Amino acid sequence: DIRSTGALPLPPALYLDADGRGRRNSTGLDLTAPAHRAPLQAALDRVVVQPVAEATPEQVDAAMARLQAGFPAWSATPVSQRAAILRRAADALDARLAEFCALLVKEAFKTQADCVAEVREAVDFLRYYADNAEADAGAMQGRGVFVCISPWNFPLAIFAGQVVAALVAGNTVAAKPAEQTPYVALKMVELLHEAGVPADALVLLHGAGETVGAGLVAHAHTAGVCFTGSTVVAQIINKALARKPNAPIPLIAETGGLNAMVVDSTALPEQVIDAVVQSAFRSAGQRCSALRLLCVQSSIADGVIEMLKGALEQLHVGQPARLATDVGPVIDDEAHANIARHVERLKREARLIAEAPVAEPLPRQIRPVAFELKRIADLGEEIFGPVLHVVRFESSVDEVIADINALGYGLTLGIQTRIDSRAQRLADAARIGNVYVNRNIIGAVVGVQPFGGEGLSGTGPKAGGPDYLRRFCTEPHLDAPAPAVV
Ligand code: NAD
Repeated sequence: DIRSTGALPLPPALYLDADGRGRRNSTGLDLTAPAHRAPLQAALDRVVVQPVAEATPEQVDAAMARLQAGFPAWSATPVSQRAAILRRAADALDARLAEFCALLVKEAFKTQADCVAEVREAVDFLRYYADNAEADAGAMQGRGVFVCISPWNFPLAIFAGQVVAALVAGNTVAAKPAEQTPYVALKMVELLHEAGVPADALVLLHGAGETVGAGLVAHAHTAGVCFTGSTVVAQIINKALARKPNAPIPLIAETGGLNAMVVDSTALPEQVIDAVVQSAFRSAGQRCSALRLLCVQSSIADGVIEMLKGALEQLHVGQPARLATDVGPVIDDEAHANIARHVERLKREARLIAEAPVAEPLPRQIRPVAFELKRIADLGEEIFGPVLHVVRFESSVDEVIADINALGYGLTLGIQTRIDSRAQRLADAARIGNVYVNRNIIGAVVGVQPFGGEGLSGTGPKAGGPDYLRRFCTEPHLDAPAPAVV
């Protein structure tokens, strides 16, 4: 288990250079400086998201035949050469940071800070897997055609991370991005081809999950599937793979979470609130790692809830392209209707703590909101939006961890306490992939804090970690854990 405490140095942040290049910098993100803003503004003015065509079953077949034919040459390409292509792609993506940020604002409605962080994560995945593959070159023998299916919520970083992991391990790749965010995937695939990935080693196929995605999973040439998305769809894919004549076919799945933060009576409320706001409402709560359940020891609960109210009232809910915006709209009408339905239900069933005001009314906006529940077990399914549940507890913190484990998911957990031994004990007792002590729940930090879940949250091993690439290879030297998502 990878643990991080507030004492660990944070990875360096990044700012935009006058020429639009992203650079590491320990002083943090400065999107407010005019020199850094100009390239991003220019890209926002220039970039137009284009429509794409859905692949037909015949095109899926032709793509799979092409990738099967391309496999011998690509898998025989020396690992150093495959890694060099990834590094070239990383440099190109870094140089086009402003353009990709603008694409993310326009296609996924991300705030600017989220966009910069996402492009940086994608660059990190490319460089990290290049280094990793070279260091482990003997094991990097691809299995054949890998199908990579990705979600819309990190349409660049997760999409690129999956694709380049499969490629550098020696597989050819059929990539199926989410139907909500096809264009940023298209631009990324173009970039990879320009950097030297052969046309018959990587093919992009757009379309719906139930048709194109399912068709790829079922295809006779499919030698492995890498999936990030909901637990329900991972289970469907797992069953479809088990039915295939050439089973077992590996499934590497990263799925949903019901993520909690446990706050004991020794925690610092100001720090807690900062961590809660970042973890629950950033990206409009549309992160698999996002905080859904805040468990506060009852002796400090009134104070923490009061501060949470204040924080919600301060959030700026508006246009994502505007720098001042904290929370933008959610991805599409269906997501909006689904989250709104849950908010209405919670207004009937739970105690409303507070709802953020709307600075600029826009379509598909959800006001960040917090509700108080009586018990942890009252938490329902994952609501993929800015909705936080709060539970006060009288019991011991150990019992709270047991209740959280009982939810069955195991993606992220936050612990806020000033007692080090307690933090360690709780982290050890939690069946959770990523534990964050006295900081916000941030998700993946490639190479520093690999990311992945247990239980209903995924199969492991962790993305951005040293063991990840071997799951894409013919003879995993690791024992492949049975997918836990079934
Ligand atoms: P989703 O499961 O609806 O879709 C993900 C992808 O699967 C899309 O490309 C979709 O087209 C495809 N798909 C849908 N049905 C399919 C089928 N029957 N066969 C093959 N492919 C199919 O998820 P989403 O709404 O795009 O993303 C949100 C979900 O992803 C949340 O549950 C979130 O927690 C999860 N997620 C997890 C991680 C992680 O690292 N654990 C990261 C990001 C998102």
